[in-house]
Amino acid sequence: MPAVSPEFRVFLKKYRIEFIIAAVISIIMMEMSFSFSHQALVDFIKNEAVRNVYNWILFILTALMFLLALISYPKIYKFKILLSAYALAAFFIVYLGISVIRPEALNVMGFTMDFWRDGSRFSLKFLSTLLDVNLLIVVLSRSSINYNKGKNIAITAFFVNILLCFVALILIEGNYYVAWPDKTGFLRFTGAFVYFFNKYALAANLVIFAVMAVLSVFNIEEEHNYGSIIMAIAVMNFYILIAIMSQPNGDGYYKYKYMLLLMDLLIIVGIFVHWMSCLNHKAHYDPLLKIYNRQHMDAIISGLADIKLGNDFSVFMCDIDHFKNVNDTYGHAAGDDVLFKVAQVIRDTSLPEGVVCRYGGEEIIVFVRDRIGEEAFMKAEKIRKAVKKESVKTRSKSIKVTMSIGVASTRKGLDDIGKMIKTADDNVYKAKKRGRDRVVAE
Ligand code: GH3
Ligand code: MG
Ligand code: MG
Repeated sequence: MPAVSPEFRVFLKKYRIEFIIAAVISIIMMEMSFSFSHQALVDFIKNEAVRNVYNWILFILTALMFLLALISYPKIYKFKILLSAYALAAFFIVYLGISVIRPEALNVMGFTMDFWRDGSRFSLKFLSTLLDVNLLIVVLSRSSINYNKGKNIAITAFFVNILLCFVALILIEGNYYVAWPDKTGFLRFTGAFVYFFNKYALAANLVIFAVMAVLSVFNIEEEHNYGSIIMAIAVMNFYILIAIMSQPNGDGYYKYKYMLLLMDLLIIVGIFVHWMSCLNHKAHYDPLLKIYNRQHMDAIISGLADIKLGNDFSVFMCDIDHFKNVNDTYGHAAGDDVLFKVAQVIRDTSLPEGVVCRYGGEEIIVFVRDRIGEEAFMKAEKIRKAVKKESVKTRSKSIKVTMSIGVASTRKGLDDIGKMIKTADDNVYKAKKRGRDRVVAE
């Protein structure tokens, strides 16, 4: 196992790297199965009965994905889920449309449709590129926006996607094969469009993919890992694009088909996991202070939280000095701002080994692993000084506060926690009695 820094490990956990790994593994498995039993896989998916079952499965998975997104929206208001679900639904529906409809049967306003005549598989490349653009928009969009506005944008995105596909696939691709000498006006445009698309699609997709990869990392705090789920879909989408480009009339098409099922499955799992982690976040975070809440503290104390404190750890009980005065002098809203700022300073100063929870009103508790005795005292001093240094600007004034901290340490792990909290509490009381703005660890 290579040495990985704790910060990087936290990042990987937060980013939910497992979705990207799942995407990469499915690509490797796809390649391996095609190299071992290529003919059997092709024969299987070409079979008429299998094709019908395939279309139904893809349809049902898409409906399920879409329903999941619709149900989650009024519960967690995540615009990104909704938008990506509408975009993916459009993608899968158009795919099903072009693979189910018999080409020769369709003639729209004098334009004939024939997706399969084009040896370069323009239709599939166009679909994947459009999906890539959609995913980029999802990554760029905000996590939460006005509820109804979000709904309207997502529905609009759905119809814009369908319309774009209609124009590109039926009007453009359908007429691409008209012989050049006969081409005038729109028909001339269709020829040029397909030509340029085929020439630049890979480069354009590569750029979009790279931009998405970078952005998905930067968005991580705000969006609870949905960025990595979108990235996993983007990885799979990029793979099928390359597959269809490198072997348009060989295995590329069949890999595309198989991969769509996996993409649908992954987004279903992704939406579900994202939904659950949002609910969990809501239940365990304090919305005002943006740190963990009392419920999370209870989970840590009872060993239910995903946090390893080990045998040697400390707790810091932090209580702001004369906080009632802040409220009385500057008002409750200013008090809230101060409280928020203090919580952020405590959290930032406690990292990486401290976990910070709101204990009660203006009391904050910190669990600090691997620091006991003198080391714990120094860490608490660092937090106290950082809070003292900070000033919070309100409209008229800048407010400064100090804080008293009670420390308790153990070598016996969580078994000792009840006693520790009592000791830390008593030490806060002592700090207050001795004149505040100090750390007491006895
Ligand atoms: P000291 O701790 O130094 O003894 O004095 P104190 O004034 O801070 O006393 P205490 O800790 O008992 O008072 C806590 C005050 O914090 C009471 C309450 O008005 C205020 N408070 C608690 N929660 C909030 C909050 O969420 N927002 C604001 N603005 N004030 C809060
Ligand atoms: Mg208090
Ligand atoms: Mg206080």
